[in-house]
Amino acid sequence: MDPLIYFLEHREQTYLSRLRKLVDTNSGLDNPAGRMACLEQLEAVYRGLGFSCERIQRPGDMVHLLARRAATRANAPKLLILGHFDTVYDSTSPFQSYQEMGGWLGGPGVGDMKGGLVVAQAAMDALNHAGKLGDFDWLCLHNADEEVQSPTSRDLIEQHAVGRDLCLDFEIGRKTGAVVRSRSGVGRFFITVHGKAAHAGMDHNAGVNAIVGIAKLLLEINDLSNSSAGTTVNVGVIKGGTKRNVVPDEAKIEVDVRVSTVAEGLRVEGRIREICSQPPVKGARVDVLGGIGRPPWQRNAACDQLISHFQRVATEHGITLGSEDTGGGSDANFTAALGIPTIDGLGPVGEHPHTLEERIQKHSIVERAKLVALALLALPAGGLPKLTDVN
Ligand SMILES: [Zn+2]
Repeated sequence: MDPLIYFLEHREQTYLSRLRKLVDTNSGLDNPAGRMACLEQLEAVYRGLGFSCERIQRPGDMVHLLARRAATRANAPKLLILGHFDTVYDSTSPFQSYQEMGGWLGGPGVGDMKGGLVVAQAAMDALNHAGKLGDFDWLCLHNADEEVQSPTSRDLIEQHAVGRDLCLDFEIGRKTGAVVRSRSGVGRFFITVHGKAAHAGMDHNAGVNAIVGIAKLLLEINDLSNSSAGTTVNVGVIKGGTKRNVVPDEAKIEVDVRVSTVAEGLRVEGRIREICSQPPVKGARVDVLGGIGRPPWQRNAACDQLISHFQRVATEHGITLGSEDTGGGSDANFTAALGIPTIDGLGPVGEHPHTLEERIQKHSIVERAKLVALALLALPAGGLPKLTDVN
């Protein structure tokens, strides 16, 4: 057996206990101390592997981690490793702990994406054991705000992506075991109509009804969906009014937008702003916040080449590795949109992220680590050929 595979298989318990500790440490949006504790756990592993670590403080109690290790040979591929350590589960969620259930592991963030962080560090561990860690130039960026669309880390990701030869993102693998080869662009819009309050009986004509205003807008906005172009526009939240007998002075909606192409993103955003530029009822005012936050990651030759490389290595080692398009966005959207060859979904194989049933297949922690370590070792000197056919 390949000594690297033997090493990983014998270290499984170490990786499972790292995962248990990370999952048992809540790192939701309302828990900066928990997020810091997760960051410290990641940092400890990096220091053990000879990385230098930098904490990057951002507004809103957000601290991100940048870990680097320079190559010890010329022409080493420059890697960008992405993975967030926040989860969607706040400190008040009923879902707080790691559990083993036969061949499955459950818990908050076990797949999205603490399991992926463990896989990435396990692959580095194996390369280190094989004396090959220095064959690569490592830049690992772990953010604390991915689940809220990375508002304080997007610039870091984009800045550090420049000049990297490839980007590996360790979001949860698809339940089929597939990795991700493209993702929709994701937008969020917060639209408020401001009207004028008045007594519904005595003074009705003096009022400006914000609910009527938002109702007129939302039907037009809803119609921007275009399933044949892969565009969905979902009015997911509506709020407005105070009492039955008062003309409502405020009403708002929240809209989720998914697009497969840059052009569709521009079309939908442009139309939403146009629709909201006129008062829907006389005397009303409309505010629009938000926009297309994550650009679409369109399939392209440079990413496909990287994914094919992983698939070839997988096949050589008896692993079946498919690739899929997905509607969910991730930080890989940013790197792919910049033209960096990107592969995502390298985390463990699992299902039901963002729910109380989130779980992963236990054996896939070691299997994914194996795949990543072997695929990196199989990269040609200087990395894959440069392709310019992107987006
Ligand atoms: Zn995630």
